[in-house]
Amino acid sequence: MKIGIDIGGSHIALSVIDEKIIIEKIEYVYDTNFKQNICENIVEYLKKTIHNILEKYEIEMIGISLAGYIKNNILLHSPNLPELNGINFADILFEEFSIRTCVNVDSLCAAKAERKYGSIKDYSKGVFLVIGTGIGGVTFDNDYMSVSEYGHMVIQKDGKLCRCGKLGCFETYGSMKAFKESIEKNFGIENHSGKLIRTYLRENIQNTKVQEVIDNYIDEFCLGLSNIIDINMPEVIGFGGSFSYYEDILLEKIEQKLQEMPLFIDRNIMPKLVMGQFQNDAGMIGATLF
Ligand SMILES: [Zn+2]
Repeated sequence: MKIGIDIGGSHIALSVIDEKIIIEKIEYVYDTNFKQNICENIVEYLKKTIHNILEKYEIEMIGISLAGYIKNNILLHSPNLPELNGINFADILFEEFSIRTCVNVDSLCAAKAERKYGSIKDYSKGVFLVIGTGIGGVTFDNDYMSVSEYGHMVIQKDGKLCRCGKLGCFETYGSMKAFKESIEKNFGIENHSGKLIRTYLRENIQNTKVQEVIDNYIDEFCLGLSNIIDINMPEVIGFGGSFSYYEDILLEKIEQKLQEMPLFIDRNIMPKLVMGQFQNDAGMIGATLF
């Protein structure tokens, strides 16, 4: 058995994993106190929780999935939690437990899980996008996989300011964060969880204003997606992250929009669009595949 860990901007999740099956999952949402000294608190939380897990299970490896630029297990740049810049979780945990530990980018971890066991396992060439706060991506061709920052492709000159400093990046229009903000702004609802937003949309899906807001999001999303399709000519595009909870609300509209808009590639080789099978658990499962 292995331990898969997902360290996010607002929560942390640890799972005991047997290949693709999650045997036990422990989650923690950071509170204000925890955030005050987040780096030390995360380390302490991980050590304590892993000690508890080791009392019950035989663990052969620990895999960590997180957002940022990572080299040799060192998190060099963390966009969500800058306090973690420079940290090497692999060394810290190996010193404590003497268990092999690997740290990798969340989008690569998620794509690995979907590639080995999930939604994109039957395709040889494609793209997997992890859409949540931002848009991360992985481009794959048989066994080759590489992280691609599609979220920071500019789709609007002098557009919205992105956290990377550029204007008009794809993720400022196409991320789930952007979609959620637009729903909140247009319908006067604040601080809703993703689940409540989806319930609201499903209950009001016939409402003209709701359809208009969704269609606006789809227009901008498909502008970015069409670039990815024309550049890569993929057989498949998989969607992970919280986006994968919106299949019934978004997928058909995206397919329809792509049919209507001009594209360079031949319509006969349009990629298949699929939702990730493991949704937000993909990162944890994939983290154990290194
Ligand atoms: Zn950007």
